[in-house]
Amino acid sequence: MSRQNSRDYDYLVVGAGLFGSVVAWRAVQAGKRVKVIDRRNHIGGNLYCADYDGVAVHNYGPHIFHTSDEQVWQWVNSIVEFVPYINSPIANYHGKLYNLPFNMNTFHQLWGVTTAEEAQQKIESQRGGITNPQNLEQQAISLVGTDIYNTLIKGYTEKQWGRDCSELPADIIRRLPVRFTYDNNYFNDTYQGIPRGGYNEFIARLLVGADVELECDFFDNREHWEGVADKIVYTGEIDRYFDYCYGKLEYRTLRFEHEQLNIPDYQGVAVMNFTDRETPYTRIVEHRHFDSSCTAEHTVITREYPSEWQAGAEPYYPINNQKNSQLADKYRALAEQSTTIFGGRLAEYRYYDMHHIVKKALQIEL
Ligand code: FAD
Repeated sequence: MSRQNSRDYDYLVVGAGLFGSVVAWRAVQAGKRVKVIDRRNHIGGNLYCADYDGVAVHNYGPHIFHTSDEQVWQWVNSIVEFVPYINSPIANYHGKLYNLPFNMNTFHQLWGVTTAEEAQQKIESQRGGITNPQNLEQQAISLVGTDIYNTLIKGYTEKQWGRDCSELPADIIRRLPVRFTYDNNYFNDTYQGIPRGGYNEFIARLLVGADVELECDFFDNREHWEGVADKIVYTGEIDRYFDYCYGKLEYRTLRFEHEQLNIPDYQGVAVMNFTDRETPYTRIVEHRHFDSSCTAEHTVITREYPSEWQAGAEPYYPINNQKNSQLADKYRALAEQSTTIFGGRLAEYRYYDMHHIVKKALQIEL
C-alpha cells in the first residue's frame, strides 16, 4: 500500500474479536503499523474467557473450535496448540437424559430400540406424510418424526426464538443430522479442540505488535478514528456504521448467569440442554469440563437465557427473516462501495462459526 500522508497507522481495526485479531496479525506480519480498538474492556470478542479462580469461563457461551479445513486447522495450531475436545452435549427433558446429536444412544433412550433398522422404522412411522412443510414444526416432524420433535426440539427451539415452532419459518431448519451409529460426537468435522491456555492466550498472541486500546467505541469519536490510519477494518454492526440509514437490523440476544459453586462437579458434562419449554434457560454450561487439566476444587456453571434484542443489549444472532435479509443486503451494498473493509459476524450480519471467520480473515484482501 502506498502512503500518501503521514497518518499514525496503516490500519485501524475496529473490534478485537476473532476477525479483527486475525486481520491485525496479518497486517503486523506484513510490517504494517496497526491500531486495534474495542468498546469492551477485554480482547477476544465473544471468545473471551473470564478467570474464576482457576476455572476459565466462556463468558459469552461455550466455544468449541471445529473445522474440516486442513489449512485453517494448521494455521490456528501455529499460533497456539489446540487441545483435543469432543463436544457431546446431553439433553435434559423433564429430568430424563438423552444423548445428542440424535444417534443410536438417543433412539435407545427414547424407544428402547437397539438396531438402526428399528430406529429408522420408528422415525419413518412418525413423519406424518408431510411433503410441503409450512412451518418449523412441520419441517422438523417431516425430518425426524413426532417423538424426537416433541422431546428434543420443540421446547428448546421455542425458547431460543421466543415463539411457537408453528409460527417459525420452515427454512430455519434445513436438515437435522440423524446418525444410526452409537456416536455422541456433536460435530462431523475432522478437527475439534480448544486452545491450550484458553482463547485469551490465542487472541493475545494474534495481537502482539498491534497497539490495542480497550473501552473505546469507534462512534464516540468517529472523526478522530477515521483520521488515524490509511485503512479501516470494521467488525462492528453494519447498520450502525451507516447511521441506520435504512433502519435497524434485528438480533436475538442472550443473558448469561454465571455461578461459582463450592463443589468439584455439578453436572458431569460441559453442556446440558434443557429441551422442555418450562425451564426458562436453554442450557447449563459447566466450564471446567472444557479443560481436562483443570484442578480447581470449585466449579462454575452458566445458565443461558435467550431473549428479544433491544438497543444496548449485546447482539448475538442475526434473525434471518425476509425483512432483515433485505435490509442487510442494502447495507452490504453500501459496504461494497466503501473504502472501509467490513468483516465478521456483525459487519456482515451473518452467523459464522470461528473457522469461517478465520478463513475469511486470512483470505480477505487488505
Ligand atoms: P465478535 O467476537 O463479536 O467481535 C467483534 C468485536 O467488535 C467485539 O469485541 C465488539 O466489542 C467490537 N466492536 C463492535 N462495535 C464496536 C465499536 N463501535 N467500537 C469498538 N469496538 C466495537 N463458533 C464456533 O466455531 N464454535 C462454537 O462453539 C461457537 N459457539 C458460539 C456460542 C454462542 C453463544 C455464540 C453467540 C457464538 C458462537 N460461535 C461459535 C460463533 C463465534 O462466537 C463467532 O464466530 C466469533 O465470535 C465471531 O468473531 P467476530 O470477530 O466476527 O465477532
